[in-house]
Amino acid sequence: MNAFRPPQPIPTPEGAYREAPVGLCNVDEAGCISLANESFAQICGMTINALLGQSIVLVLPELAPPFAAAAEEAVSADVSLVRDDRSRVLRVHIRPSPSGHALAFVDITEDAARLAALTQQAERSAFALESAGQWVWDFDMITDRVWRSQQWKRTLGFSPDEMPDADQPWSIVHPSDRKIIDSAMRRILAGEDKSFEATYRLRHKDGSWRWILSRGKVIAETSDGRPARMLATSTDITRQKEIEQELEAVIRQRRLLEHDLVLANRRLKMLAEIDSLTELPNRRKFDRVLDREFRRMRRTRPVLALLMIDIDHFKRYNDLYGHPAGDECLRLVAETLQHVARPSRDVVTRYGGEEFATILIDTNPDDAASMARALQGTIRELAIPHEGSPQGRITISIGYTFLTPQKRAPWCTPQRLIEAADRALYAAKEAGRDHIGFAGIEADGSIQIVVTNHQMDAPPAEIAR
Ligand code: GH3
Ligand code: MG
Ligand code: MG
Repeated sequence: MNAFRPPQPIPTPEGAYREAPVGLCNVDEAGCISLANESFAQICGMTINALLGQSIVLVLPELAPPFAAAAEEAVSADVSLVRDDRSRVLRVHIRPSPSGHALAFVDITEDAARLAALTQQAERSAFALESAGQWVWDFDMITDRVWRSQQWKRTLGFSPDEMPDADQPWSIVHPSDRKIIDSAMRRILAGEDKSFEATYRLRHKDGSWRWILSRGKVIAETSDGRPARMLATSTDITRQKEIEQELEAVIRQRRLLEHDLVLANRRLKMLAEIDSLTELPNRRKFDRVLDREFRRMRRTRPVLALLMIDIDHFKRYNDLYGHPAGDECLRLVAETLQHVARPSRDVVTRYGGEEFATILIDTNPDDAASMARALQGTIRELAIPHEGSPQGRITISIGYTFLTPQKRAPWCTPQRLIEAADRALYAAKEAGRDHIGFAGIEADGSIQIVVTNHQMDAPPAEIAR
C-alpha cells in the first residue's frame, strides 16, 4: 500500500531569486523592470510591485552610464548611491539577455571603505618615507629577488617603469663595498643577526655613486628557521657623506697647519735662543737652562757647576786684526769650547760679547776643575796669533764654581752661582789673565776664591775672600 504523500511546494526559481541576498532584477528591451527581488527592492527603497514596469534608469539614474555600456556585452561597474543621507557603493553586473538585460547588485560599501582606508594608509606611509628620502625594499631570500618602492628608482635616476637587476639586488653595489653587504648578509643567513644595517654605495644610472644607509629586519622564516624574507628601508646619505668628507678634509688641513705652526713656533723659539754669529745657545737659553737645572739640582741633588769664560785682550785683537777677524776668532773659540764639552751634559752658551758660560750638569768638583783646565788648554793649543797679548796668542780666563744642594738656604739661587763664577773670573783676570779662578761657596753662603794657572804646580793660592 502506497503511503499518501502530500504534494511538496517545489522551490521555484522565483523563490530562490526572490530571497537571494544579492539584488537582482531583469529589464525588458525597453529598459523597464520586468522582474525584481527583495534585495533589489531594498536597494531602491521601494516595493517589488512598485518597481515593476518602471524604467531602470529612472529608478537608479546612477546606473545610466554602465547600462548604456552594456548594450552589446556584459559590464561590471561600481556605482555610488546616495539616498536619505546614506551613501553606498554597489558593484553592478549587467548582462544582455534575449529579452532585455539581467542585473545583479552587490553592496560593497564596507569593502570599499576598508580598501579606501588601506589605500590612505599606504599613501601616508609612502609619503612619510618618500619625504624623508627613504624607500622600502622587500627581499625574498629564497628566490633572491627584491622589490623596491618608487623612491629607490628616483634616487638612482631610473624612471618608474625601469626595473634594473631586480633579481640581482647587489649587482649595483660599489665593488669596494661588496664585502660590507656580504658580511651583513652572511650574519643574517647564518641566523646570527635578525637585523641588517649597512652603509655602502650604489651606482646611479648616470654612472656616479650614491651613498646609501640601509636598515632591515627579517620578517619571515622558513619552517626550519632559516630567514626567508627581509623588509628594509634605505636612505640616500650622499650629501651627509660629502659634508663628512669635506669636514674631514678641513680637519686634516687644519691639523697640517697646526703641525706646521708647531714646527714654525719651535723653530722660532730655537732661533730666538741661538746666537747667530757662533750658533751657540744665547743668553736667553742660558738663563732658562740654568734656572731649570738649578731646580732639578734641588730635587735630585746632583752637583751643578758653572764656568764663565772670557777671551783675554779681545778689544786689542779687534783693534789689531779688524772686526771681521774678531768675529772669526769668536766663532773658532765657540766651536772649540763646544767640541771639548761633554755632548748632552754640558751646555756651552755665548753669554755676551767675548764671554761664554758653560753649565755642567750632573758633575762633581774634580770634573768641573778638569773641564776648566781642558777648555783653557785647548784654546791655548789653537795658537791663534794675538800680537797684543803677552802670550802672543789667544787665551781665555775662566771663573768657575759649583753648587751642591743646600737645604733651602736663602742665599742658594742661580744668581748667586753667576755672581760667584763672575767673581772668580774677575780674580783670574786680576791675576794676569790666562788663569782659572775657582769660587768655593761655603755652607753659610760666603765665597772663597782661589786662582791657578796652567804653569802652577803648587797648590793654588787663596787670593780673595
Ligand atoms: P779683558 O782681557 O779684560 O777681557 O779685555 P778685553 O779687551 O777682552 O775686554 P773688553 O771688555 O774691554 O773688550 C771686549 C771686546 O770684545 C770689545 C768688543 O768690541 C769685542 N766684541 C764684543 N762682541 C764682539 C763681536 O761680536 N765681534 C767682535 N769682533 N768683537 C766683539
Ligand atoms: Mg769681557
Ligand atoms: Mg775679554
